[in-house]
Amino acid sequence: MSDCLFCKIAAGEIPSKKVYEDDLCYAFCDINPQAPTHFLVVPRAHIQSVSAVTEENAPVVGHIFAVIARLSEELGFAGSGYRVVSNIGEAGQQTVPHLHFHVLAGRDMTWPPG
Ligand code: 5GP
Ligand code: ZN
Repeated sequence: MSDCLFCKIAAGEIPSKKVYEDDLCYAFCDINPQAPTHFLVVPRAHIQSVSAVTEENAPVVGHIFAVIARLSEELGFAGSGYRVVSNIGEAGQQTVPHLHFHVLAGRDMTWPPG
């Protein structure tokens, strides 16, 4: 999508601090980190949110979770634990309408989230 912040970041048109990339997804540090480690993983293809996941586009979501699991090992926080969050829509406090998974690590999380 031409006018989407995360499409542009994934395409390298807007700079970001890259954590990982492949043909299907791009991971980069959140500009406003909420934990010592806080990065976002997005599909390169524009999908608005979890609500727009279908049987057809769902494989990229599985791929992203496999990437997160691998990065959690490589970056050393798999053992201590971490959180993956996806906000959806207005009440879910989604501010960027391109599917993204927050990966937060490096501190104890609280429950329930606010
Ligand atoms: P949401 O609120 O939609 O769940 O998450 C959007 C996230 O994107 C927020 O945590 C916010 O800090 C991050 N963000 C917004 N704009 C930018 C940007 O231009 N660059 C980066 N790296 N992160 C951004
Ligand atoms: Zn997009």
